[in-house]
Amino acid sequence: MQITADHVIKFIETITMRVKEQRDYLTQLDSAIGDADHGVNLDRGFTTVVTKLPSVADKDIGTILKTVGTTLVSTVGGASGPLYGTAFLRAGMASADRFELSVDDLTVVVEAALEGIQARGKSTRGEKTMIDAIGPAVDALKAAHAAGDDLLTSLRKAVAACQAGMEATIPMLATKGRASYLGERSIGHQDPGATSAFLMAQALLEVLEASQ
Ligand code: ADP
Ligand code: MG
Repeated sequence: MQITADHVIKFIETITMRVKEQRDYLTQLDSAIGDADHGVNLDRGFTTVVTKLPSVADKDIGTILKTVGTTLVSTVGGASGPLYGTAFLRAGMASADRFELSVDDLTVVVEAALEGIQARGKSTRGEKTMIDAIGPAVDALKAAHAAGDDLLTSLRKAVAACQAGMEATIPMLATKGRASYLGERSIGHQDPGATSAFLMAQALLEVLEASQ
């Protein structure tokens, strides 16, 4: 199985639906350790993103992902806009002119996205951010692929690692972003960005499982 441009369109549409459904939950998580806007920010961004999809529906995966990235950068206020925007832009550069991606290609694309967030956010693992969900997901995807697992099996393992990484942010002390202003009081709360990253990973798996 390969990831097609049509899967990528459905992936973005599914993220948009899930973000809308989980908007209040994401915002509630952000009210505990931030400024209560994460769900609202992402909902605004993806609601604009889906209006751009018809214009790129017959384009390569790189063009679709770059369009998502530039739209997120320009519509999402807050830290998460430039960070997710950079992730989608870098993923788009890594998939330029491609209409299909194998699991091998996917590892390269998600690694590029992760590196983009880390460069933009000057962040690393263990700082209670989206990186703590995305990093383990990328590791798990690469490990599963290296062990010979197929696309869906590798992606299921990546989503499980993403969820574990998201949950592991609860006891962490935030040292990046708004939550870091709280110091010790950031401990005991799940990071909103790690939670939205998990929603996105789940959305990709959901789309590929549905097209089986
Ligand atoms: P803001 O913090 O500006 O209100 P959001 O609420 O939309 O923006 O997003 C907050 C999320 O962004 C955090 O939960 C965290 O996961 C992520 N984040 C913030 N700063 C960084 C950073 N420097 N690197 C990686 N992720 C970050
Ligand atoms: Mg916020």
